[in-house]
Amino acid sequence: MTESLLPPGVLPDFPPGWVWLCGAGPGDPGLLTLHALNALRQADAIVYDALVAPEILDWCKPGAEKIYAGKRGGKPSAQQRDISLRLVDLAREGNRVLRLKGGDPFVFGRGGEESQTLVQHGVPIRIIPGITAGIGGLAYAGIPVTHRDVNQSVTFVTGHDQSGETPGSLDWAAIARGSQVIVIYMGMKHIARITGALRAAGRPEDEPVAVVTGATLAGQQVVETTLARCTDDIDAAGLEPPAVICVGRAVLMRQALDWQAMLAGTAARDTDPLGRGRPAESA
Ligand code: SAH
Repeated sequence: MTESLLPPGVLPDFPPGWVWLCGAGPGDPGLLTLHALNALRQADAIVYDALVAPEILDWCKPGAEKIYAGKRGGKPSAQQRDISLRLVDLAREGNRVLRLKGGDPFVFGRGGEESQTLVQHGVPIRIIPGITAGIGGLAYAGIPVTHRDVNQSVTFVTGHDQSGETPGSLDWAAIARGSQVIVIYMGMKHIARITGALRAAGRPEDEPVAVVTGATLAGQQVVETTLARCTDDIDAAGLEPPAVICVGRAVLMRQALDWQAMLAGTAARDTDPLGRGRPAESA
């Protein structure tokens, strides 16, 4: 069935001995790219992460070996090098190796390091981008990551560094001053520290924040809150990672654009949440 979806001659053959490093998107299988589907249909071995939705693996070739390489929670990973070397071994055995990662492989996903190790070992690679959670996940929550009336820039940050701590190398005061909209990955563990740092640097207490967990999946949850209330509201709602956290007035647009609520029959809360008082497309 899926083969007939793929136009012949457009998508590449997967040569044995290669590793294709591929983003699987934030969860909803419909957000896979055609390149990802093409790779799944040909791969002999699929090495996948925790955040890859299980349904996606069902689309692989019959008999393909599925190898779980998940690690969660920003923990220091002794296994990272083992994963990369496993990819090298699988490729050298003559397999078509698909390294499938959540979202986009080059966005907070160590795709750069893994590809570099492969190149250093002489293994040929292809990179297949995916839809990153910080853009696609917000879109599923009805939040445009840029919106002309709100922001002309967006900052993506991770709430963890390699040790699992808040990244000491990040200058949160500079981020607070210089970023119109901030999208935080892996931010749940240190949310109190992060929101505290942003407030201390002058971001308003009542600045809108959205926390989106399980984005694009059936269990997606969205909490709209503010910088001051964020930590308490996450606790009260019992939210668990993975979550993308969006700080900024773009979050207000959800009042107009919560398309999943509209799909379920609920009308938009406010069709002009920024109070522009004019048609959306006017200059
Ligand atoms: N490469 C991935 C990010 C990996 S880091 C990408 O481009 O999306 C893992 C973090 O991504 C999680 O802690 C969370 O912040 C975010 N994330 C990934 N999938 C998510 C989802 N379905 N819902 C919410 N956040 C998600």
